[in-house]
Amino acid sequence: MKKKALIIGTGLGGLATALRLHKHGYEVEMVEKYKQAGGRLNQLKKDGFTFDLGPSFFSMSYEFQEFIKDVGIQMPFEFIELNPLYTINFAGSKRNFVIYKDLERLSKQFDGLETDFAGKMEKYLQAAGNLFHDTENLIIKRNFDSYAAFLLSMSRVPWKHAPKMMRSMWSELDRHFDSYEAKVIFSLVAFFLGATPFDTPAVYSLLSYTELKHDGYYNVKGGMYKIVEGLLEEIKKRDIQIHYNTEIKSFDQENGKVTGFVDQNGKKWTADVFVANADAASFRGEVMQRPKYNEQKLDKQKWTLAPFTMYLGVKGKVDSLDHHNYFLGNNFEDYAGKIFKNSISLDKPYYYVNVNSRYNDNVAPEGHENLFILCPVPDLRFKKSWEDREQLAENILTDLSERIGFDLVANRVSQTILDPADWQNMFNLYKGSGLGLAHDLNQIGAFRPANNDEKFPNLYYVGASTVPGTGLPMVIISSNLVTKRIVKQHGSIHA
Ligand SMILES: Cc1cc2nc3c(=O)[nH]c(=O)nc-3n(C[C@H](O)[C@H](O)[C@H](O)COP(=O)(O)OP(=O)(O)OC[C@H]3O[C@@H](n4cnc5c(N)ncnc54)[C@H](O)[C@@H]3O)c2cc1C
Repeated sequence: MKKKALIIGTGLGGLATALRLHKHGYEVEMVEKYKQAGGRLNQLKKDGFTFDLGPSFFSMSYEFQEFIKDVGIQMPFEFIELNPLYTINFAGSKRNFVIYKDLERLSKQFDGLETDFAGKMEKYLQAAGNLFHDTENLIIKRNFDSYAAFLLSMSRVPWKHAPKMMRSMWSELDRHFDSYEAKVIFSLVAFFLGATPFDTPAVYSLLSYTELKHDGYYNVKGGMYKIVEGLLEEIKKRDIQIHYNTEIKSFDQENGKVTGFVDQNGKKWTADVFVANADAASFRGEVMQRPKYNEQKLDKQKWTLAPFTMYLGVKGKVDSLDHHNYFLGNNFEDYAGKIFKNSISLDKPYYYVNVNSRYNDNVAPEGHENLFILCPVPDLRFKKSWEDREQLAENILTDLSERIGFDLVANRVSQTILDPADWQNMFNLYKGSGLGLAHDLNQIGAFRPANNDEKFPNLYYVGASTVPGTGLPMVIISSNLVTKRIVKQHGSIHA
C-alpha cells in the first residue's frame, strides 16, 4: 500500500523532496505558511516589475542535473553561466574590479596592486580545490548517524587540511595575498554563508574554488523564480496538492509516532511520514516544544546574518551597473567586526546589487531596470527595531546613485523594502536570519540539527538549517539525503 508523506513548507528543499518521494512511490501532500511556493526563493510582482525575492545566482549546477536525473524529468528551467562573475567597487574609487573565471583576465584586474597575482591565486585555488574534492563526498553529501561516525569521517580528511580548521578565512587569505583589495574581494564568499571572513573557518575557501574554477555561478533565464515555476509544473503533473496560507503550529502523537500536525485553524494534517522544510532548529523549538531548542538556547546558537532587501523599479537604463555588483567601504575589518551585533543604524552600509533586467527583459517594463539590493545586517536578537528602515534605504540609494552616476531616487518608480522582521514573518526565519544556522565547525555534520527527528521515527527535516547547509545546491543535496533516510527506514515502492 502507498505510504503518505506530508511536507511542511514549499521552499526549494520541500519541493525537491516532494518530487523525490513521489518517485519512490509515496503519495505526497504539502502545506505552506506563505501565499505561494518557493520559500526564500520567491517572487514579488509589483508596478509592472517581477522581482526575485532572495537568491540571485547559484553554484554547483551539477546538483540540479543530478536531481532531475534522480526524479526522471527534463530540466524545467534554463540556466546561464555568469561571465564575468561579479564586479566590486570600493568607496571613493572609480575603479571597478571585474571578477572573471579566466585567470589571465582576472590577473589584469590586480595589475599594480598584487605582484604575481596569477601565481598566488593558482596556489590558493589548488589548495581550496584539493579540500573541496577531499570533503565533498566524505563530509558534505553524507548522512551521519552519530557524532562518532562524523568524527571518523572527519579524521579521514587528509591531515594537510587541518590548519584550515584552526584559522579564519581572512588569515588564510592573508597568507596568500598582500593587497587589501585581493584579500577583501576573495573573502566575500564568506557572506554567501551569511557570515564574515573573520569568523568563517578557512575551510570555506573551497567556495572560491567552486566559483572561480570548478563550476562557476549561474543565473536562470527569465529570473530565479523560474526554478520554482518549473518544479511546480512537475508537482502539478503528479497531482501533489499544496495548501497555502497554512501554518503548522503543533502536533499530535500516539504510540511513539507523530500522527498529525495541526495548523493555525486547528485542522489536523495526517500522514505516515512527515518532513519539515521549516527551519530545522526553530521548528524543533517552536512546534515540537523541545527544551534543547527553546528561545534561550536558539539565541545562543550562531545564526547567519539577516537580510535587509530592497526591490527597486527604475526609469531609464543604468548602464554603469553590471548584473552582480558589490559596493564596499574602506573599513572592512572594522565594519565586518560590527555588523553581527551592532544595534545602531548603519549609515555607511556595504551592499550587493543585482540588475535582473540586464539579461531578462520580462522582469521590467520597456525602458526600465529591475534592481535588487541586499545589505547584510544584524538579526533581531541584536537589532530589534527597524523603524529606521527608510533611513537605511535612503542612505543606500544616495550612496549608490553617487557611485554609479545615476539618480536612482529621482527615477525610482517602484520600491519595496523587506527588513529582518519581514523575513521572519513571511517564512518563519529565526529572528530574521537569512541563511539559517551558521556553518561553524560545531554546527555542521553531526553537530547540525539532524534530518531525522531525535524522538519520532516518522518525522524528518530538509533545508538550510539541517545537513548539509545553506544555499540552493546544498538544499538540493539536503533533499537527497533526507529522501535516502526515509526510503531506508520506510521503504520505496519503485526502488
Ligand atoms: C536575501 C537572500 C538571498 C539569498 N541569495 C542566495 C543566492 O544568491 N544563492 C543561493 O544559493 N542561496 C541564496 N540564499 C539562500 C537560499 O535562499 C536558501 O538557502 C534556500 O532557499 C533555503 O531553502 P529551504 O527549502 O531550506 O527553506 P525556505 O526557502 O525557507 O523554505 C521553507 C518554507 O517553509 C515554510 N514554513 C516555515 N514554517 C512553516 C510552518 N510552521 N508551517 C508551514 N510552512 C512553514 C516557509 O514559509 C517557507 O516557504 C539567499 C537567501 C536570502 C534570504
